[in-house]
Amino acid sequence: MSYKSGRHFLQIPGPSPVPDRILRAMDYPTIDHRGPEFAELGKEVLAGIKRMFKTESPVVIYPASGTGAWEAALVNTLSAGDKVLMCETGQFATLWHELATKLGLEVEFIPGDWRHGADPEAIAARLQADTDRQIKAVCVVHNETSTGVTSRIAEVRQAIDGTRHPALFMVDTISGLASADYRHDEWGVDVTVSGSQKGLMLPPGISFNALSDKALKAAEQATLPKSYWDWQPMLASNATGYFPYTPATNLLYGLKEAIGMLEEEGLEQVLARHQRHAEATRRAVRAWGLEVLCLNEQEHSPVLTTVLLPEGQDADQLRKVILDRFDMSLGAGLGKLKGRVFRIGHLGDINDLTLLGTLSGVEMGLACAGVPHQSGGVQAAMAYLSDTGA
Ligand code: PLP
Repeated sequence: MSYKSGRHFLQIPGPSPVPDRILRAMDYPTIDHRGPEFAELGKEVLAGIKRMFKTESPVVIYPASGTGAWEAALVNTLSAGDKVLMCETGQFATLWHELATKLGLEVEFIPGDWRHGADPEAIAARLQADTDRQIKAVCVVHNETSTGVTSRIAEVRQAIDGTRHPALFMVDTISGLASADYRHDEWGVDVTVSGSQKGLMLPPGISFNALSDKALKAAEQATLPKSYWDWQPMLASNATGYFPYTPATNLLYGLKEAIGMLEEEGLEQVLARHQRHAEATRRAVRAWGLEVLCLNEQEHSPVLTTVLLPEGQDADQLRKVILDRFDMSLGAGLGKLKGRVFRIGHLGDINDLTLLGTLSGVEMGLACAGVPHQSGGVQAAMAYLSDTGA
């Protein structure tokens, strides 16, 4: 492949572009992970990551992708044959369901249409019916990266509380952390799963479990086999800033920098920026005469927008045209949405002009690929961005 001038536009909903400051922070010799210098770094990132989850409880950091942290949440808290309630919000909920089933858990899947978030009332009804308390955990994906739909986690918590059911509450915010509003403690989540390569702006390679006292208690009784994922040796080593096995040292340099950047901008400002860019994107999509996949106004993702193409149009062909012509990667339709949708990532290290460049690429791509649409989407986004913001 020959050199392409300018920056590639990586507008998939994660991994998101890694800012230069983070790349520079990682470009530093790997240090002794058992030496004194490391403990300072370990303590700093273990404290900082708690602020990202809005929790006072411990956060475990694994050298693994998000899938590993999914598995860790389950094997630390549950035993073979335990019943788990999950909600079919999209492809990632489906994959978590598959993983849980492979671990020997008995998973009940509340069906969904991939255009709405988890339904708090359906969860409450299922828990209410579980009079002998067989369900040990409720697992929900907060920001469904395959659909661009968020689940209302605080409302799910209220629904669980309303039934007085003792099930653990586990949430995947792999693509929501540091880009969509998330409050581990306030929302009473027992285990939150997240990853590095989305709102934290890091490369893939580390992932997280944020815990609660209730989750730690459940871990004392849980008998699913675990070794690498075991929280106990992690927490014991983390107490002095270390890890029980070799951590992803250079990614931790990056994490320290990422937390610093997010706090310099202000986490609340970061979240507001994502909301504003998501709104501008939806305005563009509607001006093109295309459909946003998410059907509930309260559940639009601030992280990505999924666009449904008219019947008979091939979204993968459109993405190919946009990649070839404009050097921009957009997210593919996953699972049963394959070929039907494309996903615009607007997360992480972006500003108004990055977003407008992205939307320009989409609008030009729609024309080049012959997808029926109206022009003026970029114009609509520009009008919104220039009327709002600082
Ligand atoms: N859950 C969600 C919501 C995701 O977006 C992803 C990845 O994109 C995963 C889980 C799986 O994480 P990973 O691919 O890092 O293993």
